[in-house]
Amino acid sequence: METFDVIVVGGGPAGMMAAGHAAEYGRKVLLLEKNPKLGKKLELSGGGRCNITNAEFDNRLFLANYSENAKFLFSPFSRFAAQDTFDFFSERGLPFIVEDRKRAFPETEKATDVTRVMKKFMDEHEVDIRFGVEVKDLLLEDGVLVGVETNRGVLRAESVILATGGASYKETGSTGEAFQWLEKIGHRVAEATPDIVPLRVKEKWVKDLSGTAIDPMRIVFTAKDGSRLVRQGKILFTHFGISGPLILNSAHQVKKLLKQGPVDANIDLFPSLEVNEIDRRILEVFDENKNKIVRNVTKLFVPIGMAKTLNANLPDPLLEKKINGVSAEERKQIARIIKGLPLTVTGTMGYDWAVVCDGGVPLEEVDTRTMASRIHPNLFIVGDLLHVSRPSGGFSLQLCWTSGFVAGENA
Ligand SMILES: Cc1cc2nc3c(=O)[nH]c(=O)nc-3n(C[C@H](O)[C@H](O)[C@H](O)COP(=O)(O)OP(=O)(O)OC[C@H]3O[C@@H](n4cnc5c(N)ncnc54)[C@H](O)[C@@H]3O)c2cc1C
Repeated sequence: METFDVIVVGGGPAGMMAAGHAAEYGRKVLLLEKNPKLGKKLELSGGGRCNITNAEFDNRLFLANYSENAKFLFSPFSRFAAQDTFDFFSERGLPFIVEDRKRAFPETEKATDVTRVMKKFMDEHEVDIRFGVEVKDLLLEDGVLVGVETNRGVLRAESVILATGGASYKETGSTGEAFQWLEKIGHRVAEATPDIVPLRVKEKWVKDLSGTAIDPMRIVFTAKDGSRLVRQGKILFTHFGISGPLILNSAHQVKKLLKQGPVDANIDLFPSLEVNEIDRRILEVFDENKNKIVRNVTKLFVPIGMAKTLNANLPDPLLEKKINGVSAEERKQIARIIKGLPLTVTGTMGYDWAVVCDGGVPLEEVDTRTMASRIHPNLFIVGDLLHVSRPSGGFSLQLCWTSGFVAGENA
């Protein structure tokens, strides 16, 4: 039976860093990857450009992005932080460029170059990399971790580094079964927070409102089968759709409605007023502007910035009508649109825009000075297996580089 010093399960960023660094210390390291290649998810990252870290070199400020988990991460980040990632890759011929929000990308803007550098790093230190090997479970004897069970038989090692990733984008290989192995040996696994992500809408007029936030508004989402979701609060319009805390926190439920197809949404600009009250306001404005046309007075009865949007939703003949020719029914029609501006939600803005992603083993259960499990000291848990809420901007990958490095050093 083959025996190793360290077995790393998973050839994503965290596993590659852990394997290379453990081997740098002269350990006999085996990396097992079930795919035929390394870093499948890494290659999708940053739209293929790989937002590899964030150029915030003050660890305190960097760690603030991990909210309540920051306190656990000071120790590993004192070993390997954003500056170290910059140095690691530039010393290996892959310098970075920095874009808005301090997001760092490889100068070549190719995620595949990141995998290439990591593969070379592992080759230089003679990591034994095996593809098509799927780990089925951890191997314990008398309660002690001694290796892993795979589709090709049992492999033994002094230490095991688990770097199998989370459970999102399963097609990349991160299928989440390691969470069950971890639960079986007594670890807790926290559920991922519902997606917190802006919504994409079909209507082009939202683009004109980009940056406008109106509070309060009420929004009613209606799915194809008639099921509804009603939310009230601040809505922020963006280039592609709607955002702001109210929308971000509703996205998970809207996603469920989206399973039936595009979702109809209606925004009420004055949730505290009835249609009749709005009609009365319109009437007051109309009485003072009898000789003008409708298009030119709508700004007098909707929130600042919304007149163009209202006009885009009114029929042209009504917009061009002189006010003294507008009927009571036409006025009511305007009031009804103010109470229910129609939008079509076509989807969410996806990972790149997600505010947080998390789920996994809570950091309380890991000795973050070494990344060892507090249950089995020769088991190391890294990367997306850890339950750390984080925003987009390079914070996920930096967590992989850091936790992988520290686990490799201690395994
Ligand atoms: C579309 C997208 C874009 C992203 N963009 C960014 C970005 O720009 N910046 C950023 O910081 N983060 C980004 N992320 C997040 C980032 O890619 C992840 O945080 C990171 O890949 C996690 O690395 P990991 O090593 O923990 O796991 P993974 O990259 O998921 O790798 C785990 C590996 O383990 C293997 N594996 C799993 N189970 C087994 C098993 N049983 N046996 C053998 N092998 C196994 C898998 O095949 C996989 O190769 C993005 C994520 C997605 C989905």
